[in-house]
Amino acid sequence: MKIDDFPENVRDHILPKVEGQLLYRCLGCGLEQGIEKLLYTCPECGKILLIYDKKFDRLKKNPGKMWRQIFDYRKMINISALKGIYRYHEFIGSAIPLDDIIYLGEAHTPMIEANALMQEKAGLRFFFKNDGQNPSASFKDRGMASALSYINHLVKKGQIDDVLAICASTGDTSAAAALYSAYLKPHVKSAVLLPHKKVTAQQLSQPLGSGARVFEIPGVFDDCMKVVESLSDRYNVALLNSKNAWRILGQESYSYEIAQDFEYDLSKKVVVVPIGNAGNISAIMNGFLKFLDIGIINVLPKIIGVQSEHANPVYKYYLEPDVSKRKFLPVTVKPSVAQAAMIGNPVSMPRVIQLANHYNQTAGHESVFVVQVTEKQIMDWELTANRNGHISCPHGGECLAGIIVAKQSGIVDSDDVAILDSTAHALKFAGFQDMYFSRTFPEVYEISYNDDLINLPVLIKPRDLKKIPESGKPLTGEEFQEFVNRVAQEIADILELKKV
Ligand SMILES: *Cc1c(COP(=O)(O)O)cnc(C)c1O
Ligand SMILES: [Zn+2]
Repeated sequence: MKIDDFPENVRDHILPKVEGQLLYRCLGCGLEQGIEKLLYTCPECGKILLIYDKKFDRLKKNPGKMWRQIFDYRKMINISALKGIYRYHEFIGSAIPLDDIIYLGEAHTPMIEANALMQEKAGLRFFFKNDGQNPSASFKDRGMASALSYINHLVKKGQIDDVLAICASTGDTSAAAALYSAYLKPHVKSAVLLPHKKVTAQQLSQPLGSGARVFEIPGVFDDCMKVVESLSDRYNVALLNSKNAWRILGQESYSYEIAQDFEYDLSKKVVVVPIGNAGNISAIMNGFLKFLDIGIINVLPKIIGVQSEHANPVYKYYLEPDVSKRKFLPVTVKPSVAQAAMIGNPVSMPRVIQLANHYNQTAGHESVFVVQVTEKQIMDWELTANRNGHISCPHGGECLAGIIVAKQSGIVDSDDVAILDSTAHALKFAGFQDMYFSRTFPEVYEISYNDDLINLPVLIKPRDLKKIPESGKPLTGEEFQEFVNRVAQEIADILELKKV
């Protein structure tokens, strides 16, 4: 639809302008700094930052209803820059001109309602939001679109060039970082650090395919992160981990989409996300808070963060009911099928503490919860979901396991509606499904198998046939016909098919 065809009252608002005043704000000492430089930690106290808009209140001059119309109409405009996370430009990166925005097909991922069978099993209505349908097959593309759009903006302004973007990763961050950096060739190059043998083959293939320099180091993600931090402290590199506040900003789009998909009515809604480095849950809380502040939504949904028993520092922190006694302690992680969330010392923990506190206060009652699930629950629920038409990754399974635990413990009711984040595509983690089906999980995962969930291919290779097709040697004539008949017969027998 063309601008002139939009109703007059929204026409002027369809194309966002460069507005507002974005600043980095330190979560420790409150120091505010301009965004001209790429900054990851506070130069005064070393704590992490969030980006906020000092002129945010200007957005209140439009009533909530008007904003809802603007976003709904923007769905119809054919401008690349507004097709992804920047449909919500005023809330995500109002400093970036449309011309500088990088759009690779991210965001506006489908929300798929579970079938009746699944809803009965779970005891409530729920949807999967398939963030695996992003370009690099995980939600990380949301934050990367934001971070790399801003880097592109700085490149275009001539403020930086020849950037080396660097990140540590449990797999998906590096896939996204390498993809978006590759698009900005030759101005941006990328290097990624992965824990050796702790990312899946598919995840490793992604940054390699995008042309990033890939370094594997011994240890787990937390070790890689320390090396990357050391590099970014000493050398001139752009850090793309979620320590980078631009990433958090982009990931807020997830909340805005949920709001829009439910016609901005979030009463009785529960948003369920896995927690690893805790960037995503921070972004989601901040997103809903911003929409509430401007009156685009009227209630805050409940938020449930889920962790595996094998990587549960955030869960442990919230176990202590007395707020004044809570103390954050990193944990040593054990192998987890929710591999992208296998993090013992989440970088964004200070953001979670501050935002969850603010969220609960704003809601007027406890609205942010963290639950813990077992490795077996994660696998069983992932497999069950996928047997019912989903394409959930283990982290999506973790969310489903989490909502069931939450329901049992009374955190949610049967008339709540849950939105579960399948944070990546099932295919990235096909190896865990393989290990389950072939009963070959190493013991450390503490997986026991549910026979009903195992599915294996059946090889049909009739032994008594003289000839079977071999590569380069196809069968012909009678031999071929005999082969086809025999194989068809065996399949029909196994499936107990009835003759027509
Ligand atoms: C990064 C990641 C997570 C964890 O998200 P955080 O923002 O680090 O808490 C969960 N699932 C997948 C698939 C991921 O890539
Ligand atoms: Zn500070």
